[in-house]
Amino acid sequence: MIITIDGPAGSGKSTISKEVANRLNFKFFDTGAIYRAVTWFILKNNCKDDEEIKKILKNFSFDVQTDPDGNKRYFVNKQDITTEIRKNNINKKVSEIASKGYIREKILTIQRDFSKNQNAIFEGRDMSTVVFPNADIKFFLTANIKVRAKRRFKELHKIDPKISYEEVLNDLKKRDIIDSTRKYSPLKCPKDAISIDTSFLSFDKVVKKILKKIKKIDTPQFFKMKPFYGFILFIVWVIFKTLYRLKVYKSKKIPKGSAIIASNHLSYYDPIAIAASFPEEVYYLAKKSLFKKFFLGSLITKLNALPISQNIPNIYSIKTIIKILKKGKKVILFPEGKRSKDGEIQKIMPGIGYLVYLSKCLIIPTYIHGTQKIWGRNKKFPKLYGKISCVFGSPISPDFEFINKKDFINKITNKLEQSLKNLKKWCDEGFKGVPP
Ligand code: C5P
Repeated sequence: MIITIDGPAGSGKSTISKEVANRLNFKFFDTGAIYRAVTWFILKNNCKDDEEIKKILKNFSFDVQTDPDGNKRYFVNKQDITTEIRKNNINKKVSEIASKGYIREKILTIQRDFSKNQNAIFEGRDMSTVVFPNADIKFFLTANIKVRAKRRFKELHKIDPKISYEEVLNDLKKRDIIDSTRKYSPLKCPKDAISIDTSFLSFDKVVKKILKKIKKIDTPQFFKMKPFYGFILFIVWVIFKTLYRLKVYKSKKIPKGSAIIASNHLSYYDPIAIAASFPEEVYYLAKKSLFKKFFLGSLITKLNALPISQNIPNIYSIKTIIKILKKGKKVILFPEGKRSKDGEIQKIMPGIGYLVYLSKCLIIPTYIHGTQKIWGRNKKFPKLYGKISCVFGSPISPDFEFINKKDFINKITNKLEQSLKNLKKWCDEGFKGVPP
């Protein structure tokens, strides 16, 4: 999961991001430190123009480590520059250097490399807009300029006792102008970010506010669903959270629009657990005969069940599913066909490949863990305790270079089977880091 926090200097980004990352056990990246490190490197090499900067940048290597006290140490070409980059000569120059397009491009790659397979918070100026436009959740922190200057003065005074408040205030004003008016990646609050004014909020209040918003993204958006569906799902969610400590893991942000949620199958509980783990409404298949039962029929229709005549989708079911997918909805399918006896991933039926071939929509490989012990094939009734985890893997997109139908279906089913096996392995090895 990637969380981005942007904002001007002194808005509290660094200290707040660090605390939030600590509480979530996430990695934390202060990207301003990279711009400062480049600035330090350029000043050290006495570069006179862009040509000289471009030349020396080829020898720039940046690294960050955490010392035993949990503080970050920054290195350029193995030299520890942690204290140097906070000095006033760097403050004065950094925004000018950061406004150069070729510098930003170089640092963009460094930042994205740091993000690979990480649960991390990235703080800076263009995290939400340019570096991670698909971040799971975005924040923008602001504060009154005088409040920001006071905060910065307090910090800077410790390393440079000669510095005055006025000097810090003027420097911040200058940096604000350069950062928000520059041509490349100017500082701005994107529409999809949550903006928080920290001027008169305590540190604890801001941290709590952010943690609350982050927690919410793993909770289904009950109020955005059809009222009856949302109400029933809320009850189910409370039950699953209480009895089965339902936990959700995601390798990436759930993509918008239509998708097939393709899951392994262990128990009758699986579709319910997946629906209760999913942020939006989902559809699923149910035997056609169930729809004829008086009360049950209308109940499951309201809960988004789609009628199929067999477990394996036939032409009629395929048409029904495609109709729903075309509306931009998501459908849960169990492509192994039946519940697994031993918990292992079974062979994937070609039907799902055919569906993707026709609909050209994404697959979200999903691994459900723990439902077998609670209500496996050999049990008549479910246990009222246990632990369920639902893991959403990296989406599989169908845009393979165009190959014939048979090869396309084979490729999709093989990719899905492998992905489900990888997700199972990730769970078996203790749910460490980000799922594949
Ligand atoms: O956050 P900090 O004050 O350490 O950042 C130093 C400078 O680096 C900022 O004033 C800004 O010019 C630049 N910066 C940037 N983009 C980022 C982070 C920092 O341009 N993502």
